[in-house]
Amino acid sequence: MSADPLALTRYLIRCPSVTPAEGGALAFLERTLQAAGFTVYRITFSEPGAADVENLYARIGTASPHLTFAGHTDVVPPGNEAAWAHPPFAGEVAGGELYGRGAVDMKGGIGCALAAVLDHLAAHGGKPKGSISFLVTGDEEGIAVNGTPKLLHWVADRGEKFDHCILGEPSNAEELGDTIKIGRRGSLNGHLIVSGKQGHVAYPDRADNPIRGLVTLVAALQAAPLDHGSALFPPSHLEFTSVDVGNKTVNLIPGEARARFNIRFNDKHTLDSLKALIEQRAEKAAAGKINFAFQWEPSNAGVFAVKPGPFTDLVAEAIAKITGRKPELSTSGGTSDARFITQYCPVVEFGLVGQTMHQVNERVAVADLRALTAIYRAIIDRYFE
Ligand SMILES: [Zn+2]
Repeated sequence: MSADPLALTRYLIRCPSVTPAEGGALAFLERTLQAAGFTVYRITFSEPGAADVENLYARIGTASPHLTFAGHTDVVPPGNEAAWAHPPFAGEVAGGELYGRGAVDMKGGIGCALAAVLDHLAAHGGKPKGSISFLVTGDEEGIAVNGTPKLLHWVADRGEKFDHCILGEPSNAEELGDTIKIGRRGSLNGHLIVSGKQGHVAYPDRADNPIRGLVTLVAALQAAPLDHGSALFPPSHLEFTSVDVGNKTVNLIPGEARARFNIRFNDKHTLDSLKALIEQRAEKAAAGKINFAFQWEPSNAGVFAVKPGPFTDLVAEAIAKITGRKPELSTSGGTSDARFITQYCPVVEFGLVGQTMHQVNERVAVADLRALTAIYRAIIDRYFE
């Protein structure tokens, strides 16, 4: 008898695990994985000023290759519960769809991975030819300080290594099988501050208006493209998000003017090279006549990508076999825990269809749960062939 991804996902949805609550979801995974022969660790991480968060690491096998399924059991709040057609933590099925908070983001992804792994083990005498693990955090939707980064570090400290990771976030845009995410642009926030000299508007010769300098620099930084894109990424993009002087007085030239911007950047840059490039361009535009400085906000979102190759081929072939679709290898979208996992091993994101994630009436087609389980199963079978 094969494992049922619908029953497993339903059970997880019925655990009200709004970040940072565990809600019984990790306890359920612990019981289920232990019964299948996994060694299971429940690890709680703390940080001053943040809520304690429970995480889970479970592994079966000691040999390589080591394939890990990563994900999170925490969910965003349900919002207005009265607006849901079916209660957000009931796991009801209607019209062929399973309703509930986390149905696609990403208790469904975990339910499917779990079903696929249990089936693979059952078909192979209870043991993989290498190692399979689950890396599950309860802190993805929150500030993520007590989740995946610390859990990865904890596993590495034990001397364990991952060879490949599948992160089961809802990667598909419209239909199951349309998209695998293989990386992400980096994100950098900066402030540009131009200093002048405050004075009376009637006597501009005695003042130095920083707004003139700011306008020059803002225009210069938007003038030329940062690059023309790369093989895996679209062109990098700088967007100003605010211009602030804060001057309420009509006859006063202000002493300082500021602008704020964000850059989404591709693999032609690193955080450091990008800062240097922006500072250089401002330097050139200022031509020694504008007194300016940059303040950079700390960023843990560098650019990354898995090079298309045998592992992405294996995943794409499994998707094609089950759905008949040829997935796009995409680097679009907001951040995910893949940005941390990539520091330990190649990671691809493939899960359900993201359309209803974080919305009222979040739901997944039961057929998609079965198809995703079959895809994961095909990946595992091939991986350990
Ligand atoms: Zn998610």
